[in-house]
Amino acid sequence: MEKLLVSACMLGISCRYDGKSKRVLNENVLARLSQKYELVPFCPEIYGGLPTPRTPSEIVSNEVHMKDGTNVTENYKRGACEALRLCDTFGIKKALLKERSPSCGKGQIYDGSFQGKLISGNGVTTELLLSAGILVFGESEAEELLV
Ligand code: SF4
Repeated sequence: MEKLLVSACMLGISCRYDGKSKRVLNENVLARLSQKYELVPFCPEIYGGLPTPRTPSEIVSNEVHMKDGTNVTENYKRGACEALRLCDTFGIKKALLKERSPSCGKGQIYDGSFQGKLISGNGVTTELLLSAGILVFGESEAEELLV
């Protein structure tokens, strides 16, 4: 069965910055995805060495900073590299990632002001996976993985 990398928080794993999960996938869609793919949960921020819960971060000028100003760019890069290593190791060609995250976001991310403003862009992991030819889908595009 084809493997699909999935943001772990969307599969009910409590790995978000606030210590919670984010079950945004429709149950029916999730069931159909499970029939078609072997779902591989992954959280790049955890693999980048960050604790849970943690202070939220946003991308500012190609760096990632926590709200308190701590520069966590290297943690985000490490997590992205681990995601790509996992894909390479298991031949994973597609990923379903959580939108708007500074790691997993695709198409839109927060602007770095921590005021809830969105701008165009990708999270650090998404950017690396895309550059390696992995097809990345956000949760609003999950149905595209089922056609
Ligand atoms: S880094 Fe990705 S998988 Fe981890 S909590 Fe954030 S959105 Fe979810």
